[in-house]
Amino acid sequence: MAEKIKKTADLKSYMKAYRDANKVKCGCGGSFNNNTAEKHGNSVKHQKYLEKEKAKLIIDEEEILAWLKTRFEETSTANENSKTKRTDKNSPIFKKLFEASSEKTYDFMLENRLELVKKAYATPSSQQSALSTLKIVLDHVKPLSDELKQTIYKEGVALGKQYKEEIVHNSEGMSYEELKKYESSDDPIIRMFAHLYAPDVPALRLSEWVNTFAGKNSKYNQLILSTGKYTRRISKVQGEETTFKLPESLIKWMKKMKINGPLFGALSTEQVSQQVVKVFGKDNGSRYWRRKFVTEIVNKMSGPERVKMAEMMNHSVDTQVTVYDSKTEAKKPKLKK
Ligand SMILES: [Zn+2]
Repeated sequence: MAEKIKKTADLKSYMKAYRDANKVKCGCGGSFNNNTAEKHGNSVKHQKYLEKEKAKLIIDEEEILAWLKTRFEETSTANENSKTKRTDKNSPIFKKLFEASSEKTYDFMLENRLELVKKAYATPSSQQSALSTLKIVLDHVKPLSDELKQTIYKEGVALGKQYKEEIVHNSEGMSYEELKKYESSDDPIIRMFAHLYAPDVPALRLSEWVNTFAGKNSKYNQLILSTGKYTRRISKVQGEETTFKLPESLIKWMKKMKINGPLFGALSTEQVSQQVVKVFGKDNGSRYWRRKFVTEIVNKMSGPERVKMAEMMNHSVDTQVTVYDSKTEAKKPKLKK
């Protein structure tokens, strides 16, 4: 008797092993073999899966980029009279998000939207605008429900809030690492500012930068990109015309960006300053960076270097030493209220 049971069990497991070996795993989560293929194909589970697969929208990068281009051109011709040249912000953002997405489908990009914007962009402010671009694109591919739009809107607000908290944090004094993040900001003013106050660039007065013209001219502070030669003619502090070379890193970036004409376009020092304060917080304006440059960079230089730097910064060496030399002159962290 015991023998018979064993045989039956053997046969059963043999049959099972045989069936399993010929089993095909299906994308719906089920599996089938030759005998059960038809039954499986007609099952509710498999049919539902097929419907879902059919409805899966593949995001076509070329199509989206063409659509964004048309969309931009249509809105910019409407504002043709506006003097400030607009740039299409959405296309490069979409490209970056598309690249960051491991699956190029509508559902995947929608479901993983927050991970995607965080993968593609480092700062909450950039993440916030990337989320808005993604919303525009997805809504174009397949209209989003009002409820979903509301949800995404709220997510954007949350990122904005995080961004403001970051500013509060930064008001205790931003670091050069933090500033560097903004070198790839979507905002051209902030991007330019972050490059001009980088630790390897002499921290000129903001008004001097605003009055700088890339290319030959006789009226403004002149920056010749082919040589990196900078000629200062206008300054808050009266002095002689000074000429010096700006670092290769800055010049290389400006060439790449094809900077031409006034560095901040038609904006005034006041307008640039307002935008900087809006993004970095009121304690992290150009004066903060100029001061930081002296305490952290100039103070580590040798005597002759320091004299040269004082000339570039339009500072007297005495000013640098007496006003900034001691660490205690650096901005003290504020107590949180
Ligand atoms: Zn199936």
